[in-house]
Amino acid sequence: MKKRKRLRGIIIFISTIVVLGIVFFILNVVRSRFSNPFEDYSYYENISYNEADYPVCRDINELEPETKRLCEKFLKACEKEGLPVMIIETYRSQERQDYLYSQGRTREGSQVTWTKKSYHTSRKAFDIAKNEAGNMFGDEEFFRRCAEIGESIGLEAGYFWKEYQDKGHFES
Ligand SMILES: [Zn+2]
Repeated sequence: MKKRKRLRGIIIFISTIVVLGIVFFILNVVRSRFSNPFEDYSYYENISYNEADYPVCRDINELEPETKRLCEKFLKACEKEGLPVMIIETYRSQERQDYLYSQGRTREGSQVTWTKKSYHTSRKAFDIAKNEAGNMFGDEEFFRRCAEIGESIGLEAGYFWKEYQDKGHFES
């Protein structure tokens, strides 16, 4: 009789855990269906070079088809690993590239780019940040992992550039 009671207790305990697991799994699926972590760009608004005259484009539909395809694959892979990635720039007009180039050279600020030619202007590059308030660029491990994922699906990650490392930059 005692043994049976204990057995029943164990069965109830295990079933409770299984049921809870299923409930959490379903909740998680529902949550990921209805929230898009890549659409929260609010933190980016504070960045100094985001000037109204040279607006930032973050639309991945503005990328070349092949780059767009890889970008979507990349976002999916990152989401799967729970990495809160947000796209902060995709296509960049030449005017904006020139404007960025002038920062820290012919006008004040620190330099943000080393070239007037960019894969962004040819729609073959995008930049990411971590979607976390106050910590968009500070998490080294986050950028390293994203770069590894990007490289594994055929993107080139600026994170691994020896000269002028560009840790949130990807191109194809
Ligand atoms: Zn870039």
